[in-house]
Amino acid sequence: MEILPKPNSSPYTHNHVLIFPLPAQGHMTPMLHLSELLCLANIKVTFLITTDNHQLLNQHTNVNERFARYPGFRFEAIPQARPNEQPQTLPQGAKAGVLNMIRLITEGLESSAVPILRELLIGSKNVDKVTCFIIDGWLSFAYDIALEAKLAVFAFRCPSACCIWSYICIPHLIQAREVPFKDEEMDELVKNVPGMSSFLRYRDLPSFCRGQDNSSCINLEQFFSDELHRNKNTNGIILNTFEDLEGPILTKIRSQYSKIYPIGPLHAHLKYRLGKENQALSNNSSSSLWEVDQGCISWLDQKPNKSVVYVSFGSIATLTSDQLMEIWAGLVGSNYYFLWVIRPNVIFGDGLDSPTPDELLEGTKKRGYIVKWAPQDEVLAHRAVGGFLTHSGWNSTLESIVAGVPMICWPYFADQPINSRFVSEIWKIGLDMKDTCDRVIVENMINDLMDRRKDELKKSMDQISHLANRSISKGGSSYSYLDHLIEDIKALAMKREL
Ligand code: UDP
Repeated sequence: MEILPKPNSSPYTHNHVLIFPLPAQGHMTPMLHLSELLCLANIKVTFLITTDNHQLLNQHTNVNERFARYPGFRFEAIPQARPNEQPQTLPQGAKAGVLNMIRLITEGLESSAVPILRELLIGSKNVDKVTCFIIDGWLSFAYDIALEAKLAVFAFRCPSACCIWSYICIPHLIQAREVPFKDEEMDELVKNVPGMSSFLRYRDLPSFCRGQDNSSCINLEQFFSDELHRNKNTNGIILNTFEDLEGPILTKIRSQYSKIYPIGPLHAHLKYRLGKENQALSNNSSSSLWEVDQGCISWLDQKPNKSVVYVSFGSIATLTSDQLMEIWAGLVGSNYYFLWVIRPNVIFGDGLDSPTPDELLEGTKKRGYIVKWAPQDEVLAHRAVGGFLTHSGWNSTLESIVAGVPMICWPYFADQPINSRFVSEIWKIGLDMKDTCDRVIVENMINDLMDRRKDELKKSMDQISHLANRSISKGGSSYSYLDHLIEDIKALAMKREL
């Protein structure tokens, strides 16, 4: 296997970073991208992964070939925490209490990960000294072990900066009695998220601020105060975003955290640093937990430019049978081509409530293509794709921005409602269908996206897409922040050696 040329000649002696993502698609993908970027800088990386996710990657991707290029990279497997459960999806009904679900996942993970972390950081496996730990922001138990091992820690936060800022403000919102809010207040403006008071409505806040979403035993004020405190005590916060997109919000975040590294969009950043000749192995599909259906690319090849709506709701969101039917009818009614990802577990409950009407089956035969999992990165970059109906997951949003594809946002939970507000109101690169799911609205929004408002959306999208690509190029803000992060990781390792 070809070993990529090293940007500088120093061997991997002192630098060894342990990376630990939440075991979910939207967390593993950017953290694998970060791992590869660190490998390119001659930093040794150990990536913690659950055995079941490791098996899925081995089964469905070229991940071994991808990382065989870096002798300093290895996976360290954590035994499966909850047998017989698909780890990459939150349990059904996750929307009602996403924090509770994250708590269940982290608690399940904690029991199997803690002994391994201790071995790696403190015990006998510590022969190959870990010099720094990059932890997914949700894995609070891992911070405690890093603290015990007196190890430098960086927090990797997967959501957008606008979402992270709203998390920081949650204790304040609760103290000011703005959260929880009532259903009839949904369209009123939020007063206590500085920097967003002219456009952020209660319905745009992270989903767990809603009464019905907060059916967990988690004390929100305590949870987010602890998180703020924990993050303040790290060596820095790594964010998958860029200055030109979220600059004013990043300034707010800096008022709380002394050091932040906005180094995104990571998938594009990695491609840039790999260079054209080396990037083929490192697309997003190389970290897919599902089998990618490449057949959709040949289908797209047959379609005119910008004629297809790509539809995907990511790796976790579920739809009720009724919602699926409304979206389906809207897609067929719009008369545009559509490529739709319907994951095997996407329908909430026992599947479709009634037989699919003939006109939907006919319309799909004529203009649709349905897959279980798509090579999303490649799909969005395809010349035939003109719009993206998305759940506004942060990775999907960034991927759409880099590819320059305007969006219709149908946010599901967590950070997605705030992402979709920024997409529609601030960046003006898409339309927000939040809290509605009706075939007429879907059809109208598709017509707006692909026709009536196409030019205005494309104009702002092209500008932001250009800024995204500039930020990860040499001299750009994300490029420079990654250089700083690498320098800081190396300096910390030197300090640990002394
Ligand atoms: N994705 C993909 N194929 C699909 C659907 C999604 O490769 O058919 C990838 C997508 O490119 C993104 C990730 O899955 O990188 C989803 O992450 P996101 O943050 O958008 O949403 P989440 O799954 O965390 O809700």
